[in-house]
Amino acid sequence: MKRLGSQCGEPAGALHSRVVDRTLAGRLSAALARPAAQQPDWPDPERAGAVIGLLHDAEPIVTPDETARLSGRLASVARGEAFLLQGGDCAETFEGNTEPHLRGNLGVLLEMAGVLADAAGLPVVKIARMAGQYAKPRSSPVDALGLPVYRGDIVNSPEPTAAARTPDPQRMLMAHANAAEAMNLVRRFCAGRMAEAVLPQRDLVRVAQSGADRAAPVEPRFADGDGGSPPDEFHVSHEMLLLDYERAVLWADGRGPRARLSSGLAHFLWIGERTRQLDGAHIAFAELLSNPIGLKLGPSVTPEQAVEYVRRLDPHRTPGRLTLVSRMGHRRVREVLPPIVEKVAASGHEVIWQCDPMHGNTRTSRNGYKTRHFDQVADEIAGFFEVHRRLGTHPGGLHVEVTGEDVTECLGGSSEISEADLPARYRTACDPRLNAEQSVELAFSVAKMLRG
Ligand code: PEP
Ligand code: MN
Repeated sequence: MKRLGSQCGEPAGALHSRVVDRTLAGRLSAALARPAAQQPDWPDPERAGAVIGLLHDAEPIVTPDETARLSGRLASVARGEAFLLQGGDCAETFEGNTEPHLRGNLGVLLEMAGVLADAAGLPVVKIARMAGQYAKPRSSPVDALGLPVYRGDIVNSPEPTAAARTPDPQRMLMAHANAAEAMNLVRRFCAGRMAEAVLPQRDLVRVAQSGADRAAPVEPRFADGDGGSPPDEFHVSHEMLLLDYERAVLWADGRGPRARLSSGLAHFLWIGERTRQLDGAHIAFAELLSNPIGLKLGPSVTPEQAVEYVRRLDPHRTPGRLTLVSRMGHRRVREVLPPIVEKVAASGHEVIWQCDPMHGNTRTSRNGYKTRHFDQVADEIAGFFEVHRRLGTHPGGLHVEVTGEDVTECLGGSSEISEADLPARYRTACDPRLNAEQSVELAFSVAKMLRG
């Protein structure tokens, strides 16, 4: 595969000068020329252009081979042979990009995956919201003080001053460097898990080799190709939101009319609820990508629109190419989801149905914190399972905001976090996350649902 590149300092929006495939470059330019929601207004477009030029020569975070492996795993999920667990911070921050934080988040996902795999009797494919989850869509362009809103560390800084909130394109380079570091940690974490998985056998080999008998070579216990991820495998994902960043590291994948672009910035990218305009740049850009794509669907989506998305984003009917992430809210999921599932299933496309039980259940507590209640999160998942069981479709996955830290951001759970407890350790840069205990507890609740 060949990288699409450009020269340093090339202004934003210009055609790449070293493109390998002119048609693909033309399609990319056309996609990016469409209206794009939720983009920052860089105060100095020339400076932004210079940064974009530098980003085009930046190192990839992931490889196309890894992404292709994930696509294979997701095909198994779409066929009902595996389950997908995706999760992590709502918003990663540069400050929080530390080894303990990342290990904590991967650890809690791994624990959840273990519980779910046992209950489902299926392999669990693990995708972290990590190594690039730095851009946030917001419901209003200004905050309560009238300042430009915080749009994630890749754009500006959360402190409530005009200077901190001014979009700074240099932050895209910082985001890339932070993502690269996080990905290195993910790789080290996975290598460590693999070593642990085979360690007892390794010890046996060493002892045996010192004696007369030689032990047979040890095979890793986790064979590749079983559809789920072995403990040494995590893929990374983020919301494909900030297009000046997303357009930076692309390979030409294939040739001719079916050629697409492979993003080197994450294995899996999703389109958020606020940027899924059918005539907008995000959908058009995602159409060009060969990476597996997620699409968040809130309660306003119609079954007809859902089918239109599926046709656009899965034109070649590739199982698992598209993950439809329903986030309907616990009160509405049982009513809104069925006609969407029915119509998409009738279209014959094999999508993954994934439940995001977080974003439709957000509210403000009486003491002013954005929060979610554990019971409502669990109830949306229960509704999601009920709908799919009734329609005979595979409830393929979960998409959750969780952290391995002992935060107090979501209400409820067995330690009964109350509104009065929220200020104690409310640390999120954006939406409230389940803490480690609530996350594992949620996995056990879902395990019960999986056992039916
Ligand atoms: C998110 O996943 O953090 C998010 C903003 O979700 P949604 O687009 O579904 O609101
Ligand atoms: Mn969120």
